[in-house]
Amino acid sequence: MRLENKVALVTGGVQGIGRGIALRFAAEGADIALNVRKDDARSADLRSRIEALGRRCLVLPFDVAHVGASASAIVHAWETLGRVDILVNNAGIEKHASFLDVSEADFDAVQAVNVKGAFFVAQAFARRCRDAALGGRIINISSVHEELPFPNFTPYCVSKGGMKMMMRNLAIELAPLGITVNNIAPGAIETPINTSLMQDAAQLGALMGNIPLKRLGTPDDVAAVAVFLASSDADYITGTTTVVDGGLLWNY
Ligand code: NDP
Repeated sequence: MRLENKVALVTGGVQGIGRGIALRFAAEGADIALNVRKDDARSADLRSRIEALGRRCLVLPFDVAHVGASASAIVHAWETLGRVDILVNNAGIEKHASFLDVSEADFDAVQAVNVKGAFFVAQAFARRCRDAALGGRIINISSVHEELPFPNFTPYCVSKGGMKMMMRNLAIELAPLGITVNNIAPGAIETPINTSLMQDAAQLGALMGNIPLKRLGTPDDVAAVAVFLASSDADYITGTTTVVDGGLLWNY
């Protein structure tokens, strides 16, 4: 139980990597503030799984791109659960198009969720941590694309590169408050965001050729690192990225 008596807010937590992190954190003893875009059958199912592990689960419907909504939700989470020790900035979207065809709307949508959303959720979280003088942990789910350029993916790569610089800045600015800030950079993980990739044998085969460990990652592969970064074992780690990619990044 490495997260006993902790409370974690996971954004975009209803499916994929966020869901894996919420479940793994709950199994390690944490209560969960589960951000979703809307409270539906998926969040009801996940809440009951978390409660079955003996943990509290507060479902928080808000769009991370709406700064006022996320700030109010974080206040609500503190009031309801007593504290929030860990923030996992997981919510993210991607849009595929060649650079020459990217629309302003798609560019803005990706930055609004992946960069602005993560930035202002972190700000609201850090303000509460400062006021409570409890320290805290911020873990951003970035991507190997915080380093790796990828054609037809430019707004996403820009956003994840931005997340990397955000993490480095916050690590320095928030260290005096006892808040550590780290990124996890997944490679190709089996989640709904990759449904079309997983159904395209040619594309999947080409990708596998670049993954030395010869499999896609799972949400649990990412969650295991998130537990470590959230735990006291990582007290002296801030301003870093941990890559979880089966060796993909440096094999491109
Ligand atoms: P999914 O699409 O499966 O899950 C993303 C979640 O984010 C969804 O639950 C979605 O809600 C939620 N979300 C999207 N926009 C918002 C918003 N504006 N406000 C609140 N929640 C939102 O993707 P993954 O689990 O694969 O991705 C999670 C993170 O990991 C992302 O940041 C992604 O960029 C990153 N990542 C994923 C990789 C992969 O291979 N899967 C690789 C590298 C990084 P809803 O379900 O309602 O749409």
